[in-house]
Amino acid sequence: MEENAIRPSEYREINRKLHDEDIEDLMSKRDEFIYIDCPTCSESKERELFNKKGFRFVECNCCKTIFINPRPSVEMLTEFYANSRSMKYWNEVIFPQTENNRKNLIVKKRADRIIDLCNKYNNDLERIVDVGAGFGTFCEVIKDENIFKEVIAVEPSDPLAKTCLQKNIKTFNMPIEDVSIFNISVMTCFEVIEHLFDPNDFLRGCHNKLNLGGLLFITTPNIEGFEMSMLMTLPEESYTPNLGGPDHLNYFSPSSLTKLLENNKFEVLEILTPGELDVDIVRQKFESEEYDFSQVPIIKNILMEYKTLGVKFQQFLADNKLSSHMWAVARKY
Ligand SMILES: [Zn+2]
Repeated sequence: MEENAIRPSEYREINRKLHDEDIEDLMSKRDEFIYIDCPTCSESKERELFNKKGFRFVECNCCKTIFINPRPSVEMLTEFYANSRSMKYWNEVIFPQTENNRKNLIVKKRADRIIDLCNKYNNDLERIVDVGAGFGTFCEVIKDENIFKEVIAVEPSDPLAKTCLQKNIKTFNMPIEDVSIFNISVMTCFEVIEHLFDPNDFLRGCHNKLNLGGLLFITTPNIEGFEMSMLMTLPEESYTPNLGGPDHLNYFSPSSLTKLLENNKFEVLEILTPGELDVDIVRQKFESEEYDFSQVPIIKNILMEYKTLGVKFQQFLADNKLSSHMWAVARKY
């Protein structure tokens, strides 16, 4: 898969400028950002890794979680997302224009994987709740599959919740912590946890609502994956939306995500990295001359021979927990 199918480059350019303006607004309040201990293990000792657009990236000395510290408060993040020009552009232009591709290239595979894993772990298929449902695309697809008796969206953002409702999906327009439904067999949280001020609060909320033995699926970037590892070596001014604040505040690896889930009374059944975009994203950075691979021609050859070597290399990454898109399958105990 190529990135342009889901994020066309002309839109990315416009979005980048809008996002820079959003960040500029937020940075006027940088003095009010809050210092936190490690969001995975609460360790207070950390080391600074790098800065990006005014955000300071650190690594926990203990569990190696990478996170932005200090970070905007929950209120600042809420305000940021409510007023963000970039978010508005995503909602009004990029998402509607790419929804079909997303559905076919990402969401259908996602739904099939969820169904396979539920069958594998013998989970009951009564009620599935998608937390952070966004445009409701996943809910729509999983509803069409007719496997679960009830499909529910939980979406705190007003305009997105409205979109879910328009798709005839039962929707709760609030954070999961405030939702008054229990008896949930399966919970899915696609690309949510990296955005949160406090992932532990969120997981406690999920744990509270999920049936004993119920399955929780989390997807998030894998900071030890090929794309993320390569992006970390780029200069501070490079545009790397997957690695940047305030959208992505927490960066996990297979081991730190396992630790976070275990700390919140989930048994981790599997970690997968089925990502498909590492090679294409790094290749584009090479093409835009942000990387100089002249000292390592083998990397250049793999990336540039995308249709043959690149595709195989991507499969190698996915098979060996080295892709930057990670799934955790966990069971509440
Ligand atoms: Zn830690």
